[in-house]
Amino acid sequence: MFELEKLVRPNMRTMKPYSSARDEFEGHEGVFLDANENPFGGLNRYPDPHQKALKETLSAVKQVPPENIFVGNGSDEVIDLALRMFCIPGKDNVVICPPTYGMYEVLANINDVNIIALPLDKNFQPNVNDILASDAKMIFLCSPNNPTGNDLAGIETILEHFKGIVFIDEAYIDFSSKPSFLNQINHYPNLIVSQTLSKAWGRAAVRVGLAYSNSAIISYFNKAKPPYNVSQLNQQEAIKALKDMDVFLDHRQIILEQRRWLIAELSNLKCIETIYPTDANFILVKTTDANAIYHRLIEDNIIVRNRDSVVKNCLRITVGQPSENGKLIASLRKIQP
Ligand SMILES: *Cc1c(COP(=O)(O)O)cnc(C)c1O
Repeated sequence: MFELEKLVRPNMRTMKPYSSARDEFEGHEGVFLDANENPFGGLNRYPDPHQKALKETLSAVKQVPPENIFVGNGSDEVIDLALRMFCIPGKDNVVICPPTYGMYEVLANINDVNIIALPLDKNFQPNVNDILASDAKMIFLCSPNNPTGNDLAGIETILEHFKGIVFIDEAYIDFSSKPSFLNQINHYPNLIVSQTLSKAWGRAAVRVGLAYSNSAIISYFNKAKPPYNVSQLNQQEAIKALKDMDVFLDHRQIILEQRRWLIAELSNLKCIETIYPTDANFILVKTTDANAIYHRLIEDNIIVRNRDSVVKNCLRITVGQPSENGKLIASLRKIQP
């Protein structure tokens, strides 16, 4: 039997959350003398701490009720809060499957949460048996995975049998041919799905990350978050982005076409040894010499991500605009192995 309360940190269970002025009075009209705001100016009022309008918009786009949505100041805040909600510093463990997104490790370290590293296998797939045998409060799974680009297999088995919280980072899900776990949030009581406006929605500058989960887990996110964690400007820009579905679909289609084009072009180059399968907006390639090629590209003003330190001789290439991708290939063609 799954009992959420046994996984939540005791201090999180018993603490009283901050009650903001706007929690105590929620009307829109009136003379507001309750929050020590400046009465002058256009951005003088605190933003909606519950992000109601943004959640309604997300709810319509994602077909998820507002009570199953948490809005964070980027996914990094979502990851940080999840660690703080469940993992007791200096005591609890979290599973990470490298090579993967670096912020899981950084945020676990900041929160003094011990990391159990269970590396992906040679096909960049998780070792499900080792994961299920581990003694951890939470696991971070990134699918499609950054920096490898592939979708992870075996997630259902992990959701079914892992004793802790399963945090699935779906930052790249809109580029993937695999379905999201979003419609499973009320099926698996230990599931948190995180998404972001930073990638397929094209709003990295806006800093909006989302967590989707059952309403009990979402309530703990709300308890743990800073009251005004998402600025009004960011909420407005996020709503605008989500209402511009045509642009989202157009740009995604171009990126997916360009991904195919880049893969075809890269496969003709001598300095590229392996192109790993990708379901994201980037491609991990094994090269003849990642450090040398990385610096050669910089001479042509082209910056890719050097992942040599995490996957030997690999570069991670983000799919850009057609002209940018053309420049990359032209520059790589000049490099002889
Ligand atoms: C880019 C990325 C994010 C997005 O982070 P934000 O803070 O929302 O911009 C989240 N997870 C992974 C794995 C990423 O690569």
